[in-house]
Amino acid sequence: MSERYDLLIVGAGPAGLAAALAAAPSGARIAVLDDNPAPGGQIWRDGPQAHLPAAARRLRAAVENSPVQLLTGTRVVAAPGGKRLLLEDAERGWRVRYDKLILCTGARERLLPFPGWTLPGVTGAGGLQALIKGGLPVAGERLVIAGSGPLLLASAASAKAAGAHLLRIAEQAPLAALARFAAHLPRWPGKVWQAGRLFDGRYRASSHVLAALGDERLEGVRLWQNGRVVELACERLACGFGLIPNIQLAQALGCAIREDAVAVDRWQATGLADHFAAGECTGFGGSEKALVEGAIAGHAAVGEEGQARRLFPRRRRWQAFAERLARDFVLDPRLKTLATPDTLVCRCEDVPYGALAGRDGWTDAKLNSRCGMGACQGRVCGAAAQFLFGWQPPQPRPPLSPTRIDTLLCLEESD
Ligand SMILES: Cc1cc2nc3c(=O)[nH]c(=O)nc-3n(C[C@H](O)[C@H](O)[C@H](O)COP(=O)(O)OP(=O)(O)OC[C@H]3O[C@@H](n4cnc5c(N)ncnc54)[C@H](O)[C@@H]3O)c2cc1C
Repeated sequence: MSERYDLLIVGAGPAGLAAALAAAPSGARIAVLDDNPAPGGQIWRDGPQAHLPAAARRLRAAVENSPVQLLTGTRVVAAPGGKRLLLEDAERGWRVRYDKLILCTGARERLLPFPGWTLPGVTGAGGLQALIKGGLPVAGERLVIAGSGPLLLASAASAKAAGAHLLRIAEQAPLAALARFAAHLPRWPGKVWQAGRLFDGRYRASSHVLAALGDERLEGVRLWQNGRVVELACERLACGFGLIPNIQLAQALGCAIREDAVAVDRWQATGLADHFAAGECTGFGGSEKALVEGAIAGHAAVGEEGQARRLFPRRRRWQAFAERLARDFVLDPRLKTLATPDTLVCRCEDVPYGALAGRDGWTDAKLNSRCGMGACQGRVCGAAAQFLFGWQPPQPRPPLSPTRIDTLLCLEESD
């Protein structure tokens, strides 16, 4: 027998929590599920070394004290159709039915291949932050952060607070773009304060990683730093080249995709009846955008259009910030030339760049090399190949992530 909800929300980050809180007073039977052990999403990820801001703790507590059911440690692994989802947690697999669905699946960071990027000691920038929040000790370690976007500064702040010795933050965007971004920031006064708090004198524009150096593990980093090559000895390198929306579940459901994000209208409704989307799966842009979009989706899903409409001006303001981010942190095409023929692009299946260059697209690459067919199901190499070769990732197929056989068998049960 499937469990049934009036409203199901996938993702308990800022967007999902705001959607739940907006919809809760309607009296609808609501559940929010998330594959992490605690609600909060990426920005408010909990853990032994995490320090959640007061606003995040308040939002979380409000949802926890509401009638909304929180299903943590729970993943959506398939969307068999007919307003049903297949879920899995540590103990069981089961199906749920819903009347309305809000997708708040967030974004992940884009990792790009460069020589040495698979050495132990090299992680994503947001990845390092998540590891630190989860308890990874980094005190005394020399750290270089490279890539693009404000997440580099947030990651550096977490690492410094945990005692890491930050050597450099290498931002690929040129100084002119950063100056433009800074000049527009006063439109969002909170962001000026945030930028001032996070800024670090070791930040350099027009700089990017060339190679991670070392045999068994990371020993140093070679950087292109504003026109010259620089080498720094270090124990950790954290690289993230912006964020990409998590759209696999939306694609599996049949929602329309626009510019690599879930397409929504002013009610945050996707083209698919009774299916809404909010937050970074509709385009990256920060937690403020996610919060207001989530609230609009929550109200709209329970028919409170007036309350949703009142939030439109706030959403416009934060969507303008998202547009600024996208414009000023656009990736330099030179980053496409970092990988050498033997640099791995798909680390799950050990597929090097040389085996992919010259292929026709994803299907050709998969058939000839198994690229994208490993445990991450192309989440990492798919985004890299899209940037490197311009290949559109294919429609995802179930299961959306590695799943137990017992769980898949639930698909055969009758309702
Ligand atoms: C690694 C990382 C670190 C970041 N750190 C910061 C930071 O320090 N400061 C900052 O301002 N911004 C940060 N961001 C940006 C941040 O994503 C947003 O500002 C904000 O968290 C977006 O909120 P959201 O609700 O849209 O998505 P998210 O916060 O990403 O929440 C989405 C949630 O959905 C869950 N989910 C996705 N698919 C499934 C599924 N199939 N089944 C179950 N659950 C699913 C995810 O695990 C996640 O918990 C970070 C982003 C990333 C990728």
